Amino acid sequence: TQHELLASEKMASLGSLVAGIAHELNTPIGNSLLASTALRDRVQEFERQVEAGTLRRSQLTSHLEEVRMASELISGSLHKAAELISSFKQIAVDQTNDQRRAFDLLAAVQDTIATYMPRLRRVPCEVDLQIPAGLMLDAYPGGLYQILNNLINNALAHAFEQRRNGLIVVRAAMVDDDVLSLEFSDNGCGMTEDVLKRVFDPFFTTRMGQGGTGLGMNIVYNIVTGVLGGRISIDSAPDAGTTVRMLLPRVAPQREAKS
Ligand code: ADP
Repeated sequence: TQHELLASEKMASLGSLVAGIAHELNTPIGNSLLASTALRDRVQEFERQVEAGTLRRSQLTSHLEEVRMASELISGSLHKAAELISSFKQIAVDQTNDQRRAFDLLAAVQDTIATYMPRLRRVPCEVDLQIPAGLMLDAYPGGLYQILNNLINNALAHAFEQRRNGLIVVRAAMVDDDVLSLEFSDNGCGMTEDVLKRVFDPFFTTRMGQGGTGLGMNIVYNIVTGVLGGRISIDSAPDAGTTVRMLLPRVAPQREAKS
């Protein structure tokens, strides 16, 4: 099930992404506001009743349970909002004044993997790097690390929930003088045809309520095609695992000066 998407086909504009994020933020923030107002009113009501002698301190226990539930709702909603904001910050950083420079691809991948060591030990999962030393890629640091982070994070989050020996292979090679290929493979759960069709859509996630924002692959897609001038395709099937393939120009296209 090869699914190839060209740059022009699905490039979500930054504007629609911002509108989408604002929309998504509305729900958790609205919920937190409502819950915190209700919470304040309840606490004031308890105080009045204790003062008036109509509520004994001993009766407070059951009311405190309500308070606890409301504060959990608030912190859960704010946590969701914070996740969205951090995805949004990622996009914003990349679209602004990040400086383009040459990266040693092997070193960049190793640096990224190093930050996942605690999780890699827990999962457990092996990582095999097949990247020639000295392979250089011209990129924006924000952009490059977002791609690496999101793809490794996805392999860990989606691929190895079942108990089995996980393997992530990161492969890179020169295709010709101007283009290099970068591939992330995992032997995890893979994607159904339906998921594969929507994987680059903003806010599409199968991890609703488990920390999924559905922005990871959309960000990767936008950076690869829009910022680095490359192409991306995914090969995936249920239980067979997933391979994300990218073709990247070694020298990223010059970006227009910001006004
Ligand atoms: P999120 O990780 O927040 O769910 P993404 O945009 O990164 O959002 O991914 C969208 C969906 O694509 C995921 O919810 C998952 O269903 C699927 N997916 C992404 N990467 C993988 C992978 N390596 N293996 C299996 N499924 C994946």
